[in-house]
Amino acid sequence: MAYRLGIIGYGGMGEWHHQNINKKIKEIEVIGAFDLREERRDKAQESGLKAYTTIEELLQDESLDLVTIATPNDSHKDYTVACLRAGKHVICEKPVTMNVAELIEIMEAAKENNKLFSIHQNRRWDKDYTIIKAIYDQNILGKPYIIQSRVQGSRRALHGWRGYKVNGGGMVLDWGVHMLDQLLQLTGEKVVSVNAHLHQIFAPEVDDHFEVMLRFEGGLTALVEVSMNCFITQPRWHMTCTEGTAVVEDWDGKGKMVTLKEESEMEWENEIVYTSAGPTRTMAPRPVHTTIELPLPEVEVDWANYYKNIVGVLNGEEELIVRPEQALRVMQVIECIFKSQDQGISISCEI
Ligand code: NAD
Repeated sequence: MAYRLGIIGYGGMGEWHHQNINKKIKEIEVIGAFDLREERRDKAQESGLKAYTTIEELLQDESLDLVTIATPNDSHKDYTVACLRAGKHVICEKPVTMNVAELIEIMEAAKENNKLFSIHQNRRWDKDYTIIKAIYDQNILGKPYIIQSRVQGSRRALHGWRGYKVNGGGMVLDWGVHMLDQLLQLTGEKVVSVNAHLHQIFAPEVDDHFEVMLRFEGGLTALVEVSMNCFITQPRWHMTCTEGTAVVEDWDGKGKMVTLKEESEMEWENEIVYTSAGPTRTMAPRPVHTTIELPLPEVEVDWANYYKNIVGVLNGEEELIVRPEQALRVMQVIECIFKSQDQGISISCEI
């Protein structure tokens, strides 16, 4: 028998959840959806769902085991708590909440009502990230000490609610949440300082470009950058390790690793080299034949694995992969980001 799921917020992402579950997760049946807007309720109905006309109707539907929340960010907390209290398991879209206090309220409600609560951090299954994680976990290039994670577009426009502060708009709470979640899962190390610079280039209320520098306990530093006004993009990932460098260019996972040839010694004289930018000993290019270019590791990825894990947990067969306490760390870092921006300083922390 399949688990019965309802959706709150049948917009871009709500509809995606419906279609994706239909295609890939036979253990979950999407039953119905509630949306504030009539046109989206009509759309849900046209797509074969029951359209709840009020939130109470959805909450009172005792046949629902599970609810996915895909509304703008400022309504996540209230809907999640209401669903948990109504005895339903909950999956909430990212960012889970607007701040740490709201998330703690949800975690308490989940505990009190003994229900599963998870956050749709689907980008843990992105190809680019999974490749970087494989290089990190398998120690392929030695110890990583600088990681740069960038997402850069040039469309400039923040659509609808994403442009408003009250709705939790802006790029830190949009892409930033995914990229921070990826980094925190990558290393497992504590974050010990956060330095952020948020820009408002075109958006009047919220950040539309940011750079955040995180320092981790073991010495690793990570730069996270999102831009909406970048016309010459940099790689999605650039990772500097003690034994080489890895670049993942894009979401498709194109890129390469470069490391030293095993037998290569420093085979040049320690003398000044005259480059077109003048003389230098340290920065003259390394002879190409002393390095080797390696293909990136092959990885298999599928966003559907997120829901497969939820089914496994509900069946009592698996541990939950995306856990609330992990989202709590991300929200704590995000609070440091806003604090760093407000105060113009680096924030020390232990997260
Ligand atoms: P959207 O604007 O396309 O859809 C939101 C829907 O919610 C709309 O249909 C709107 O009418 C409805 N709505 C608004 N307020 C509501 C309320 N109080 N109660 C009920 N319905 C309400 O937005 P979206 O792009 O689908 O984003 C929704 C959520 O999904 C956001 O939290 C966003 O961050 C998240 N998201 C996640 C990913 C991902 O990859 N995980 C991608 C995109 C969006």
